[in-house]
Amino acid sequence: MERFDAVIIGAGAAGMFCAAMAGQAGRRVLLLDNGKKPGRKILMSGGGRCNFTNLYVEPAAYLSQNRHFCKSALARYTQWDFIDLVGKHGIAWHEKTLGQLFCDDSAQQIVDMLVAECEKGGVTTRLRTEVLSVSRDDSGYRLELNGDTVSADKLVIASGGLSMPGLGATPFGYKIAEQFGLKVLPTRAGLVPFTLHKPLLEQLQTLSGVSVSSTITAEDGTLFRENLLFTHRGLSGPAVLQISSYWQPGEFVTVNLVPDCDLAAFLDEQRAAHPNQSLKNTLAMQLPKRLIECLQLLGQIPDVTLKQLNVRDQQALVETLTNWRVQPNGTEGYRTAEVTLGGVDTDELSSRTMEARKVPGLYFIGEVMDVTGWLGGYNFQWAWASAWACAQALASD
Ligand code: FAD
Repeated sequence: MERFDAVIIGAGAAGMFCAAMAGQAGRRVLLLDNGKKPGRKILMSGGGRCNFTNLYVEPAAYLSQNRHFCKSALARYTQWDFIDLVGKHGIAWHEKTLGQLFCDDSAQQIVDMLVAECEKGGVTTRLRTEVLSVSRDDSGYRLELNGDTVSADKLVIASGGLSMPGLGATPFGYKIAEQFGLKVLPTRAGLVPFTLHKPLLEQLQTLSGVSVSSTITAEDGTLFRENLLFTHRGLSGPAVLQISSYWQPGEFVTVNLVPDCDLAAFLDEQRAAHPNQSLKNTLAMQLPKRLIECLQLLGQIPDVTLKQLNVRDQQALVETLTNWRVQPNGTEGYRTAEVTLGGVDTDELSSRTMEARKVPGLYFIGEVMDVTGWLGGYNFQWAWASAWACAQALASD
């Protein structure tokens, strides 16, 4: 039976980076994955260009039952450390918006970089490998694989969350946590589009593909200012994906479709300057034409000139456009979600090493635990930072 210092399960962002760092620190590492290729989510990420980190990473951008847990790892391996590594590999990148950094060329470059770092660390990688069982005794961990048995001093679970089962996601990490008596918090899809109830969806069907600059607010007061996209299933776009992580079934979200303008003041100014201008054409200066046409058909925008618009109708219109309360029917679920909220309870883990407090030698890194970032490179930064913290611990024992 082959023995390793550490076996890492999951050759995604966190697993590959942890394997590389521990290997380069002299540890004998085996990296396992059930898929044909490593880093499948990385390849899909950021529209194929991988939004690999964010210039403005801060703990406030992460959801977790323990908001303090992520601080230590994020402070010890920062976005600047990862940017430095990317630079050393000659990968050109650019900031798209809001501090989000993407490869100029392709996400494949990030996977190639991680593979090269693993090779530098002498990591043994086995793909298409199923872990049939895991057991622990005084000598460490023993894993039954399809066709093989291996043992190790340390076991690192980097098997990710449940989102996108088509890319290899499984509940493996949660099952291992439960097997060793660790608490797993309920999971749900995050960074995911909303579906709408049928009457509203039918009313808005002509808007599919329309994108609007907006602010969107959850019932807990969390607000994002990004684009909202109408789709044939409901609502999507960065604003909606962001707020979905703060939304609970049954709750409303509030949308301001004209966040860059004081709409009442704008209408008053336009009325004073152009009293015979149609309301429709006036609103077209602030909103997409298709949205105005749809709201006209729904009777939300009267077919009048500005001088004909009375105070009550103006107030109602401003309310409709700046304070649109929507009750989503649900989300599109794990099928299209970018992340999984919840997971292994961070109270069970050391924030310095990611080791389970009650199970020596067992570590959890990346998305499998209850730490979820905003859209925009925050989730990969958590994968790198938690992996780095774990690798330091593997190297120091
Ligand atoms: P993963 O990257 O999911 O890796 C887990 C690995 O474990 C996988 O390779 C899987 O095959 C393997 N595995 C699972 N179960 C088993 C098992 N039973 N046996 C063996 N192996 C197993 N985040 C960003 O920051 N920026 C982005 O641009 C971005 N874009 C995204 C786009 C999409 C479409 C999706 C789905 C997510 C995106 N994310 C993005 C989120 C990001 O991909 C994840 O947060 C991140 O990959 C988590 O890293 P991880 O290593 O913990 O898990």
